[in-house]
Amino acid sequence: MTHSGKGNPQREKVVLIVEDEPQNLTLIRDLLQFSGCKTLEATDGKQAVQLARDNKPNLILMDIQMPVMDGFEATAILKNEEETKNIPIIALTASVMNGAKERILAAGFDGYISKPINIREFLKKVSEYILCEEAKYE
Ligand code: MN
Repeated sequence: MTHSGKGNPQREKVVLIVEDEPQNLTLIRDLLQFSGCKTLEATDGKQAVQLARDNKPNLILMDIQMPVMDGFEATAILKNEEETKNIPIIALTASVMNGAKERILAAGFDGYISKPINIREFLKKVSEYILCEEAKYE
């Protein structure tokens, strides 16, 4: 799933997508891959923690509401570990009302993207953290 391309794997930008809703996962994967990023995928927080530890992605996009382990818990774990604490984590959230934004930032997320995904806003937000296109010009 990752580092499958040729060249120096260290220089490929890898994004871990954590999302339990298949349509959102597909949309996000397509947008990132079209932009030139490699993607890893998890559908719950527990899988996300393991994939992040094993692969040290350049960016994590994390849904909040998921089975097994939610995005708050997974983010707390990753931000507590030396090996993963510097990986930026952006929340994918359907609710931005009533203090949800404050709660997300207080929980250790580096930012958030609201759902449903607006393609232009999504790509703009991601580009604040990584430039997928760099991978093409090694
Ligand atoms: Mn969800």
